[in-house]
Parts: sequence; structure tokens; C-alpha cells
Amino acid sequence: MQVELPYSFLNSLQTVKGFRENKFIEAHTLHKPVTSIRINPAKLKNAKADTLLTTWLHERVPWSTCGYYLNERPSFTLDPWFHAGAYYVQEASSMFLEQALRQCLPQNVPLRILDLCAAPGGKSTHIQSVISPRSLLVSNEVIKTRVNILTENLIKWGTGNVVVTNNDPKDFNRLPHFFDCIVVDAPCSGSGLFRKDPDAVKEWSLQSVELCSQRQQRILADVLNALKPGGILIYSTCSYSYEEDERISDWICETGGFTGMPIQISQLPGIVETFSKHSKSPGYRFYPDRLKGEGFYLSVFQKKGDAASRPHEKLKNKPVLASKAEQQVLANYLQDTIPFDFLKWKEDVLAIPNHLLQAVLYLQQNLYIKKAGINMGQLIRNQYIPSHEWALSEPMAPVLPVAEVDEQTALDYLRKNEIHINASHRGWSILQYRGLPLGLIKILPGRINNYYPAGWRILNK
Ligand code: SAM
Repeated sequence: MQVELPYSFLNSLQTVKGFRENKFIEAHTLHKPVTSIRINPAKLKNAKADTLLTTWLHERVPWSTCGYYLNERPSFTLDPWFHAGAYYVQEASSMFLEQALRQCLPQNVPLRILDLCAAPGGKSTHIQSVISPRSLLVSNEVIKTRVNILTENLIKWGTGNVVVTNNDPKDFNRLPHFFDCIVVDAPCSGSGLFRKDPDAVKEWSLQSVELCSQRQQRILADVLNALKPGGILIYSTCSYSYEEDERISDWICETGGFTGMPIQISQLPGIVETFSKHSKSPGYRFYPDRLKGEGFYLSVFQKKGDAASRPHEKLKNKPVLASKAEQQVLANYLQDTIPFDFLKWKEDVLAIPNHLLQAVLYLQQNLYIKKAGINMGQLIRNQYIPSHEWALSEPMAPVLPVAEVDEQTALDYLRKNEIHINASHRGWSILQYRGLPLGLIKILPGRINNYYPAGWRILNK
């Protein structure tokens, strides 16, 4: 579909660095958007990734270790591996976040990272794959209706070091200096995605750019106190507009006590380095006529001040942990690569990596938590009732029998239809497709109960 770009839009970009009007229009009228995915290293160990590589993956995204371009756009909905969390479908330019994380943060040390505007989870799943497994990621989304898809995508990603919250940015004022890094992938006027969503052009106006710019400042102002001195702020948009990009970078440096940080891009042709007008703070622009990706802007800042120790994080209540006997039962269901604590949460039990328990409890005291660690399911009189989240989790221990199924049965399962399997065993089992778990079933005499979550089922035929 051709994209008609309004005159006011093209005119507003004339002085923006890297903008080449004719080539930009050509990219929007003659070329289709590229399709890219990022594989989940926690689930696709090398051998399996190779299988996918030979059938699908076309070329590496130069700025991301797990990002690949695809030759064509398949029906992801009809690929069971998509539902298993084997990969995330993500626009290639936005994978540049990885360079900011790798180049500007200390590596291989435990960090606390906040992804403030996280739904549907592209950046969060990416951050999770890049940070050390001992780090904590808080993935927040303010809009209630968007938290469910964020939670679903992070459950599918399958790792235990993520907390999903549903809070307004200003709520993070309750956590002074808590985070080592905050990522703000801000809501914006969205011009960078015009090629993917031509209807979005109709929503664009100079006025909406200005409103977005003001909102971006408000969001940032609300959250900056939660970043520790010396901490890293990563700001990004999918807008080309100066008001939402370099002007915000200037605002961050001038009002927030921050210094811009450069990212080395000499090996990454096509990315345009820009500098904000007043503070000369660097930013990185992506244009579809210069590289294989859509419009994107990213800049990194360091908060001034000494990286002093954190304020004491006092817990008001004692956590309710599973009893020793219960812990022994539950521990059998997780691989013992890292120790977990088991926290009672309403009817369920959460497995929280032991070294993250204090921080998670402190978050629970201050924020509205939708998901923390791995929801294991329930223990009823020391009898374990497994959960879908556990079945999809990466540290899940292979204690239940596994039913490996063909593509058609996998899709029937994902549609929550009746399924038929020849199995000699009875009881709880993991349903698996090409080596990756899709969820739980219970095999009974003469029938199989399908435990795929009703709200996640595939609806198309
Ligand atoms: N980071 C996400 C990803 O990679 O999948 C995309 C985030 S999208 C660009 C911006 C997000 O900001 C949306 O999920 C939107 O709901 C959220 N948002 C909207 N208004 C907001 C506000 N006032 N404060 C914080 N977040 C807001």
C-alpha cells in the first residue's frame, strides 16, 4: 500500500538531520516495510535456532545479536513456536536498544532496570535477553487494557527475573534511586511507522507532535527521581519530529542534571548521529531510505552525581513464604541453576530468584504488581497443581511426561479445541511442538483436557 505523506509533515522535517525528501518519499511509496524477528536465547538454544535459520531467517540485523530479517512475512499466528515464545516479532530499527544496553551499562553485573512504557513488550523481552540473568527487570505499562498483552508476552518469554507492573509514571517517585537504568520508549506521534500503518498518517498533525512532546516531558519528569545518581536513562521514540527527539534530549540535559552519552556506530552504516541544539547531546536516527528498518530515534544519558548507596528499602510486612515442606515439593519442579524462594500470593505460589526477593517485596509494597517471577500455580495439601506459566518457563524442570505433537495438533491445542494423542501415560503432561512446550494437558481415560488459557487462544481459522 502506498503512503501519502502530507506536505506539512514533509515540510516539518526539512531541517532535521539525515532527512532526504525524495529518497524518503520513494521509500514510502515504492518499498514495503521489512519483517524482522528477534529470537529468544533462553528458549532457542543453538541447535534449534539453526533449524529456524535454514527455513526462515534471511539476514542478521546488524545492531542486534538475536535479530533477523525475514524474506517474507509468514502468518506468525499459525506458527506454534510464536506462541511458545521462541521469538518476538519486532521492528528492526528498535532493536538498536541493544547497543545502548551493551555499550552504556556495566556488563555481567546485577542491575535493576525499569522499562517504563512497556506494552506490548518488544523492548522488555529484548532487555531481558541482554541483561545478566541476576538482574531485575521491571516492565511497566500505565494503560490497564494493555497490561494483559504485556504480561502474556513476558510469560511466553519464560524467565523469572521480570516483574510486570501497572502504574502511572509518577508512582515511581515512591522508589527514589531504585533503578540503575530506566528505559522510556515514549508514546509519540508515530511517524516512524507510517510505512507499516499508512492509516496513522491521518492522525498526524503539527499539533499532535507538540502535545506528544509535552507529554514526553511530563512522563520523564515523573520518573527521573527513581534513577540513581550515575544511572543511565535511555529515551526513544518512533517519531521523526525534532520536537519529540532532539528537543527532548535538550530538555533532559537542561532540567534533569544529565549528560548525553555517545554510542559507537562506525560499524553500523545507515544510522545517522545527530546532536541536540543546545546541550549537543548525541542521538541516533533511523530512516527507511538509509537502512533496513523503520523510523526510530534513541538517545542515552547519564544522571549526574555519585553512585551513592541506595536509600534503605524497609519492608513493612514479613513476606508469607511457602513452608519448608512445600518448598521441597516445589523445588523439584524447577531446574536448580539458581535458587528460588517461594512466595505465597493469593491462592498461588510465586517462584522468585532468591537474590531478587527483597527487591520484589519492596516493589510489591509500592506498586501494583501484575506478575512477579514465575507463577508456579497452587499447592493443595502438598499436592502441586502446575500452572501454564510454569509450563512455559525456561527453568521448568522436566518432571512431567511430554507429548510431542505435530503442527495440526499443536494448532488445535492453541485454538483450545479438543485434541487426540496416543499416550500411554495419564495425568498432567506438557504438550510440546518441535521441542518447545506450548502448555499443559491432562490425559484422562478416553479424553484429554486442554488447559491452554482461554484468553490466549488463536481465533483465526
Ligand atoms: N516499548 C513498547 C515495545 O517495545 O513494545 C512500545 C511502547 S509504545 C511506543 C508507548 C507505550 O506508552 C504504550 O504502551 C502506551 O500505552 C504507553 N503510554 C501512553 N501514555 C502514557 C503515559 N502518559 N505515561 C506512560 N506511558 C504511556
